[in-house]
Parts: sequence; structure tokens; C-alpha cells
Amino acid sequence: MIEDIDRDVFVRIQTDLLVVGDSIITDRHHASNGNYEDNDPQNQIGGIIPAFSLSGWLRHGMEKVVQERGGTACHPGEPNANFRKDGVYNRDLDAGYHEKGACLDDDDDDGCVIFDLFGGFGNRPGKVMRRPIQFSPVRSSVDYTRGQAEGHYRRINRNVVSRNDQDNREPLRNAELDAVGNLDGCWHLSFRETKPEFVALLAEAIDFLDEHQTDFMHQLGGARNFGGGIVDCHLVNPLYEEHELRRIFDRGKGNTTKMAEKDERWENEYFPKFESALAERVEEAP
Ligand SMILES: [Zn+2]
Repeated sequence: MIEDIDRDVFVRIQTDLLVVGDSIITDRHHASNGNYEDNDPQNQIGGIIPAFSLSGWLRHGMEKVVQERGGTACHPGEPNANFRKDGVYNRDLDAGYHEKGACLDDDDDDGCVIFDLFGGFGNRPGKVMRRPIQFSPVRSSVDYTRGQAEGHYRRINRNVVSRNDQDNREPLRNAELDAVGNLDGCWHLSFRETKPEFVALLAEAIDFLDEHQTDFMHQLGGARNFGGGIVDCHLVNPLYEEHELRRIFDRGKGNTTKMAEKDERWENEYFPKFESALAERVEEAP
């Protein structure tokens, strides 16, 4: 059954506003032609959302799923690191985590499912590759099958003003923030090895993140108090073919009957099988 699942899977991500620190990479130097203005609404600027924030967000969701199933997850930090807040690290270990790599018995052991996916101990790569999302404001040039999205880059200016009455709101400093508005597209993930429990964990984690999209802990990127990073997300049916994936984003077209059949097969046949593989894997972990 798992052989029917391609190593490439896609997560649909939709958000009104995404602010990921200062880490959006833009191609405005191409678009500007020497006269770029930050606040010109005509800017046709594309760019890249790096995978770091996306990856941390997904991992957090996956850890939660493992914990809700009664297991513990690999701590993301090295056990021998000099944690500035030792108490916090130890508290994590009491709250659903084990020391990173503690789940490995010997060198060819795969460890817990989180370790297996994310790796990172003794130079081991994780088995899920998280790609950056390339975005463009020009919808017709977005290739969803390559993990791209429609998105509109804006530079947001925030004026921090004096609170003192006599100062008449005199500006104290100006903060600039990179943001992507109205993002809608695909996040492309590739499994280096496709295992049923991986697919189940991904599907459950994406569901969890969607349900908890307004929780402080489960928003994507920074600036959480400003509503940036509230994300609608769902796993695109892994049984879909490329032309079906494209169809999802075509507002003029609905789903085909073939897609509806695949949805039913995914819900009733594949997903339950993969879920039991995940349950088994979490149960047998240390
Ligand atoms: Zn582990």
C-alpha cells in the first residue's frame, strides 16, 4: 500500500499574513530596475520563504501528535549543549520529551519516529526533506507541483512613537518588517524513505496545526501577537496526480469524480492502515 504513495507530498498552506522574522528572501533586485520603492503597490516581487520556520512549526505539531498518543518525542536540542536555562530543559524532559538520540540503541537503529524523520544526531540526515516555498504575486507563473505559492511581498513599516503627551506622538524609531500577504500554495516535502507511519504522522500533525492555528504555540513564524502566522493547512491527498493537484488551485474548476474516489480511498483504506502503523511505532518506542 505504501508503494502507492509517492515520495513527494504536498501541504496546502493558506494565510492572510506571514511574518517570519527577517528571513524572507526577495528577488526585488530583479524587479526594481534601480527605482524600487518599498511601498509601491505595483511591486511585482517574488521571493522565498525558507524552510527553517516551516520545519520548526511542523516538527512541533508532530511532537504533539506523538505525545497525545502517549509517546515521548526527541528533544530538538543537543543533550550535551550548554543550555542557558537548565531548568527549562529538564522541565521539557518531564513533559513529553526524551533526550535527543536517547531512543537509539545502536548505530543502525532508526530511533523514535521524530528522530527518524528529522535526524540530526551523529550526522544522520532525517528522512523528510523540507523545502523552501517559492512565492510569486503573479498567479499564472506559480507552479504548485513544484512547491510554490501565490503570495504578495510587502515591507511593513511600524512607527514607534513617544507615549509622552508633550511629545505629540513624536516618532522614536522606525521598524521595518518583511511580510507575505495572501499566501496560498503548496509546501513540498520529500521522504527519503516512505514509511506508512511517516505519512500518518504528517497527516495528523497537519490536522492538529490546522485545528490549533490560533494557539500562540502553533502559529507559523514570529510576530504571533499581531496575527501573522495564523495558517490554514491540510495535506493534499497523496494519491493525487500532478494534474489533480493543479486543479485544487484552479478556482474555475471543481474536483473530478476520480478525485472524489481517491479522497474516499484515502480516508477509508490508506489512512487507517497508516495510522495503525503509527500507533504501533509509537507504542514500541522506548
Ligand atoms: Zn527520539
